[in-house]
Amino acid sequence: MLFLDRDGVIIEDRQYIRDPAEVAIISGSHETIQRFRDAGFRIVIISNQSGIGRGYYGWDEALAVQARVQELAAQDGIIYDCVVLCPHHPEKGKGEFNKICNWRKPGAGMLTFALEKFDVDLRQSILVGDKRSDIEAGIAAGVGRLIHVATGHGQAERSRVKEFESDYKIEFADCLGDVEL
Ligand SMILES: [Mg+2]
Repeated sequence: MLFLDRDGVIIEDRQYIRDPAEVAIISGSHETIQRFRDAGFRIVIISNQSGIGRGYYGWDEALAVQARVQELAAQDGIIYDCVVLCPHHPEKGKGEFNKICNWRKPGAGMLTFALEKFDVDLRQSILVGDKRSDIEAGIAAGVGRLIHVATGHGQAERSRVKEFESDYKIEFADCLGDVEL
């Protein structure tokens, strides 16, 4: 299974994106995803969307943005096997969205949910993310291959990701387009 963070990995990170018109695919992303699909990987998006919980936008807007992501993917022949979004935030969430949720990365919940749907080998799975919390979620779930990209928040977070290197093998790439099988 190929676990992909969305904002800052597949699409440009617009900070709490709520308008489908702002969805912009990062160059090379779809080509890499297609390579993994051709190799038999399930492709899964795991995305913290605390903008919902914070009240910046609603589920309708979040799902419209996600629909645009999938529309652009389909134009390049890509279908995602599973998309998991988490709306919660432990401090900034409003009302029912204010909770400590293991689905929210760095928790492993979204990955575990997707893994239960498909019979895949976790050690053969890959996670690509731009934030330290993405990598932490991959570690928590036991994903075999962890890749940090420099797009999105990647440049700013890289030094904090490198702190994991003493205990875990982390790979570094400029962008998803540069990730190899
Ligand atoms: Mg991201």
